[in-house]
Amino acid sequence: MDLTFSEREAAFRDELRGWLEENPPDPKPENGDEAALSEWRRAWQRRLYDAGWAAPSWPTEYGGRGCTPTESAIYFEEIGRARVPLAANVLGLLLGGPTLMAWGTDEQKERYLPPILSGEEIWCQGFSEPEAGSDLAGLKTRAVKDGDEWVVNGQKVWTSGAQVSKWCMLVARTDTDVPKHKGLTYFLMDMEQDAVQVRPLRQITGEAEFNELFIEDARIPDANVVGGVGNGWQVALTTLMNERAGLGFALQIRLRQLLDDVIEAAERRGLLEDPLYADALADLHMRCESIRLLAWKGLSDVERYGQPGPEGSLVKWLWSETNQRLTQLSVDIVGTDVLKAGSDWSYELLRARGNTIEGGTTEVLKNIVAERVLGLPRLKVAA
Ligand SMILES: Cc1cc2nc3c(=O)[nH]c(=O)nc-3n(C[C@H](O)[C@H](O)[C@H](O)COP(=O)(O)OP(=O)(O)OC[C@H]3O[C@@H](n4cnc5c(N)ncnc54)[C@H](O)[C@@H]3O)c2cc1C
Repeated sequence: MDLTFSEREAAFRDELRGWLEENPPDPKPENGDEAALSEWRRAWQRRLYDAGWAAPSWPTEYGGRGCTPTESAIYFEEIGRARVPLAANVLGLLLGGPTLMAWGTDEQKERYLPPILSGEEIWCQGFSEPEAGSDLAGLKTRAVKDGDEWVVNGQKVWTSGAQVSKWCMLVARTDTDVPKHKGLTYFLMDMEQDAVQVRPLRQITGEAEFNELFIEDARIPDANVVGGVGNGWQVALTTLMNERAGLGFALQIRLRQLLDDVIEAAERRGLLEDPLYADALADLHMRCESIRLLAWKGLSDVERYGQPGPEGSLVKWLWSETNQRLTQLSVDIVGTDVLKAGSDWSYELLRARGNTIEGGTTEVLKNIVAERVLGLPRLKVAA
């Protein structure tokens, strides 16, 4: 792995850095109103889109810039460096779009990719259910064929952004007579129908980022099956691999920024002279560097093998634990501001609790690393 940028990569970085300096997002709405925040992020995506910066990793034929994985990493580094938000339709851009490019028909790509890119249609991910999270293949939401439509019944939970979404990447059971992984199908479900009820779940941070979905006789046209009936598990894996690879890179950059902020606060308060704080911060610095290098290694693998590998699970696991340690330490270093309701610091501290659950729990990721990275024997559960 060579981390020196080529001339082309350096030119790409300079162009983006210059554009971000000249085109900052509008000031963030102060009152914490969720609709205003969502509109603010949509306006930011439109600005990125107009300048061709919404999804540079997408191929040029779909409106991207056809960036290499290294250029995509530079993109996330510069977005992080400029401290601007991610685009509003993050799940559509990083998960839904790439899944459609891999499995969608030409008609589906033509219909769905442009509004994902422009942010006109927001996407959400309807995978988890009350009794199927880590064991996703055990999901129970049923889809039954009726003419050239599917009728869907069931419940999803923890669906981030469902309240503002037009489309849901929905995995449902279409065959109960085959082993559980084989009876699933991946659909694009229109959220704008009465048969889909979205109920927000308020989190410890005070915001309702995710939701419950109650689906009663929802209708999905057959043309919205992605990747073929019964092939939902494979299509869902494409979505999940893109989730860990794409988001992983962006998140480790945010982690570094938070650490820099905590170090700055420690310096201001004269705490760097205290060996206990200095030691804790040095430990976090080393963790951040390891995560950064592992994330880059993951990108080299994508360049070499064409897809993200299981090492992405290692980055996600280390990132989530480090972010929790860092935000916990910020309570001692930054002071009471961290405990003040509504402050940015308190948000970081409280939001970090979900990091070891979302996108795969730490225990499940450890199993993946043990079995697929280290090659240890598979866990055998006694019958
Ligand atoms: C902030 C946030 C946003 C989310 N957004 C979405 C979203 O947009 N769309 C979506 O579909 N889902 C979303 N989720 C759901 C998330 O994917 C699930 O919470 C996660 O997969 C875990 O599933 P579960 O909550 O059902 O826990 P369970 O799977 O029931 O796990 C419970 C406990 O058992 C452990 N466990 C389970 N299986 C094993 C095993 N084989 N070995 C060892 N330990 C095990 C787990 O580690 C955990 O500690 C989100 C979650 C969070 C926190």
